[in-house]
Amino acid sequence: MLIDYHTHNELCKHADGTLEEYVQQAIKLGLNEIGLADHSPMPNDWDIEVRMYEAQFWADYKPTVLKLREKYKDAITVKFALEGDFFPGTESWVKSFNAKNEFDYVIGSVHYLGEWGFDNPLYIGKFEHVDIDQVYISYYDHIKRSAQSGLFDIIGHCDLVKKFGHRPKKNIEEVLRETFKVVKQSGMSVEINTSGLRKPVKEVYPSEQILRIISEYDIPLTIGSDAHTPTDVGRDFNVARQLVEKYGKGKISLYTNRQRSEVNI
Ligand SMILES: [Zn+2]
Ligand SMILES: [Zn+2]
Repeated sequence: MLIDYHTHNELCKHADGTLEEYVQQAIKLGLNEIGLADHSPMPNDWDIEVRMYEAQFWADYKPTVLKLREKYKDAITVKFALEGDFFPGTESWVKSFNAKNEFDYVIGSVHYLGEWGFDNPLYIGKFEHVDIDQVYISYYDHIKRSAQSGLFDIIGHCDLVKKFGHRPKKNIEEVLRETFKVVKQSGMSVEINTSGLRKPVKEVYPSEQILRIISEYDIPLTIGSDAHTPTDVGRDFNVARQLVEKYGKGKISLYTNRQRSEVNI
């Protein structure tokens, strides 16, 4: 069983290809399921440079995903999903937006610490002016709160803060343990996201240090490429598969109508 639960498309303005091209690529690769999980709109169309307008969600994204699900149902299972942002202050908007839809799952990602979009190459300079240990502590505080929020099903790329290669100076094992204890309590799963291999850090999200903790706490896993171009669908899944065998007892989670089930990879 192979799935890709994290893909984008041209609606977010920083990815190429139509939704249909991602589905077709997944079929070509022989995947069993593809999750269409583009960046969610935000209240008042905030941060619109890197995501769809809310109006586009209703007029284009949602109907297209549902149409593709039907059109390709004999070839692949298409999941209707989103990658949401955990951004303090937007929780009630996100909650009511999600409730208006029949998502199969919603990924919860932290891309912002305050107003700082720390994974955006445009703002990489800020890393020179911050205490990196504090950035990591703040990042994991956000991850923990995203798990406590109850808004999401899957923790997205749970060490994205390492994207450009910035590492904490001190050992953050305790911070990680405290964070993933909360993730375990939330019942969420964590994705193995292969896009880190295509970024300066050249490493899967999450690191093996985190995967060891995840395995110890018996937290379920999913898999995603975070494809921003159709040919990235399923990229480096041989690596992801090995990590699932090693740290997840060979099991991955599937989601339908926001209910989790587990299958052998
Ligand atoms: Zn993106
Ligand atoms: Zn993301």
